[in-house]
Formats: sequence, C-alpha cells, structure tokens
Amino acid sequence: MKTNLQLKSRTRAFTRVEALACLGAVTILAAVAWPTVAGTRGRSDRVACVNNLRLIGRAIQTYSGDHGGMNHWGVNAPQGTRYSPYAGNVSFQFGFLSNELATPNILACPSDTQRRAAHTWGTGPRGFLNPAYRYNAVSYFLGLDVTQNAPNSVLAGDRDIPLAGYGSCSLPLANIGYVKPGQSNLAWTNGVHVFAGNLLLSDGRVRQTSSEGLRQSFSSPLYSDNGLLHLLGW
Ligand SMILES: [Zn+2]
Repeated sequence: MKTNLQLKSRTRAFTRVEALACLGAVTILAAVAWPTVAGTRGRSDRVACVNNLRLIGRAIQTYSGDHGGMNHWGVNAPQGTRYSPYAGNVSFQFGFLSNELATPNILACPSDTQRRAAHTWGTGPRGFLNPAYRYNAVSYFLGLDVTQNAPNSVLAGDRDIPLAGYGSCSLPLANIGYVKPGQSNLAWTNGVHVFAGNLLLSDGRVRQTSSEGLRQSFSSPLYSDNGLLHLLGW
C-alpha cells in the first residue's frame, strides 16, 4: 500500500514533467507563430502604405483637375509651388496639399521607422508644422518629372531608393536627387518594406513592386528631364 507521502511526491513529479512539457510546447508554438505574426504586421503595414499613396494620388489629381492638368510644382507660386523658395523641400510640397489631404498622417508609411506620422496640419504637439515633425513626417518622394503623356510614370513612392546623384532640374531647382532610366543598381533596401516597395503612378494606380518592378517603372523612355528622373524627398 502506498503511503500518503509517496502519492504526494509522485503527483509533484508528474506536475513538474507536465510543466516542462507545457513550457516546451509554448516555446515551440511561439517560435512557429512569431514569423507569422511579424509577417501579418508587415503585410498590413504595406496595405496601409498602398492606401496612403492612393490618397496622395487623389489629392494631386484634385489639384491638377483645378489647374489645367498641371501638378502644383509646375504652377507658379502662390497658386502652386514653382519658384517658391521652399520648392525644394518635400515636406513643403506635400504640405501644400493640406486642403486636398484630410490628414497628414497618411504622409508617413507605417513601415518607415525613421518617420513619425503627424496628426494635425498645425504647429501643436504632433502637428505637421511642429519643428520636431517638420522634416520628419513624410515617407514618400515626389517624382518631379512625371507626365500625363506616360501614364506609367512614377508620381510618388517609398523613399528607400538608392539615388544615382544630385543635380539641377528644369523646374528649376538645384540639388535634387535623381535616378537614371535603366539604372542597374536600382533596388529597394530592407529599410522600409524589406526589399520591396510601393509606387504611385501618374494615372492614380499604386503598384506594389519588387526591385525588378522598381527598375521597370523607371525605365520608360517616355519621360525624363535631360535623361534623368528627379525625385524630391531627401
Ligand atoms: Zn511604404
């Protein structure tokens, strides 16, 4: 006959084994589930980024619809931003659309850890014009050479693109980043969407692209400024 003590210790031992098994199972489950959780997060951020770019496209189209098909950087200040002393600043260019954009928080891509979404257009805390946010609330570049003649030309996109250099563009603006059509080292970094990225095209569509898609999007011979494609955003 087993004593009370023997029963107790057997129960305790069983519980310990069970606890270890549970711990093991939880660890394995966590290891299996984590990449899925992280992947889902990455995917939902990428969808949010696509929506951001769609809304930016709509805002630019609303403006150009009211200005004879011209984008605001092609229209002289103060109706547009051309010849404005701030025209070379991407935050200024996007801020100019504040009447067409409901909120500035769509100017920050959720996958871009180097940028923080502003919540109002004002100068208050988390305001787009707050000095702490002014140069830090925009994740997207603007494609300055975009043209309606090439419906696939790139109007805006995630900013993690390796530029070929900086130079003057015909707007005219000095010291603007550019890529070259057919630039062979054009590839998304792992900085925002991990070797992938989103592009807003001039007809309002948003393309989710790999680096191959990125190179294709910038290879159109239908548009360039003296052989270069100027991107405002750095
Ligand atoms: Zn993005």
